[in-house]
Amino acid sequence: MTTPIIVGNWKMNGLSADSADRVKALLAGLASQRATGTEVVICPPFTQLALLAPQLKGSPVALGAQNCHMDEKGAHTGDIAPGMLTDLGVTHVILGHSERRRDHGEVDETVREKAVSAAKAGLTPVVCIGETEDQRQSGEAQDAIGWQIKGSLPDGFAGVVAYEPIWAIGTGLAATPDDIRTTVAFIRAELVRQFGESGKTLRILYGGSVDAGNAASILAIPDVAGALVGGASLKPDVFLSIVHAVP
Ligand code: PGA
Repeated sequence: MTTPIIVGNWKMNGLSADSADRVKALLAGLASQRATGTEVVICPPFTQLALLAPQLKGSPVALGAQNCHMDEKGAHTGDIAPGMLTDLGVTHVILGHSERRRDHGEVDETVREKAVSAAKAGLTPVVCIGETEDQRQSGEAQDAIGWQIKGSLPDGFAGVVAYEPIWAIGTGLAATPDDIRTTVAFIRAELVRQFGESGKTLRILYGGSVDAGNAASILAIPDVAGALVGGASLKPDVFLSIVHAVP
């Protein structure tokens, strides 16, 4: 049985006071509702990880980061190594998010190397793939996704794949359930082609404008194991309703 997973990506949002309050509300909400059997992960900015780790310790919510470096240590000013994350109790890391590909020139090869290092350190990588609006318009979405799968996922990959169409991120325009179903089936076929048997069980998430209103229909799609949630993860009540929309 696949364990569903809902990952909250706070992006570059969160100061000490509001982050602690957000986590408090999330934990209270989870405690007051029956256990969901869903893996819940929040990924605050690096600056909040050490502050939130004690609050989350022993709770049903796991701590994730939004990026890491591929090296274990060394001369990389401003970067964070995977082992520095596990040292704090971080268990997951988002890699290859389209905003990092866009803002920091990350390419598939970088993402793949990071995924290797993250897994070696004991982190679960959540690797993001997804087409641009142009690729979608020109009918090249599956090609683009196929290349990202080949390029970003290392041999023996055992993490999570997040399908995030770039045009759907932060726009309020989620992909339709039909489009998600079609693309997830394509991603599954590519994963099986690349990894064989283990490609059958890798979890595939959808991300891109998931909110309280569309979560249930998205999470009900066969083979969608959960969601990567950006904006809506900043509002505990909305994030909780997404967690509880898991079928
Ligand atoms: P969004 O972001 O939910 O705000 O669209 C999703 C993501 O970028 O992970």
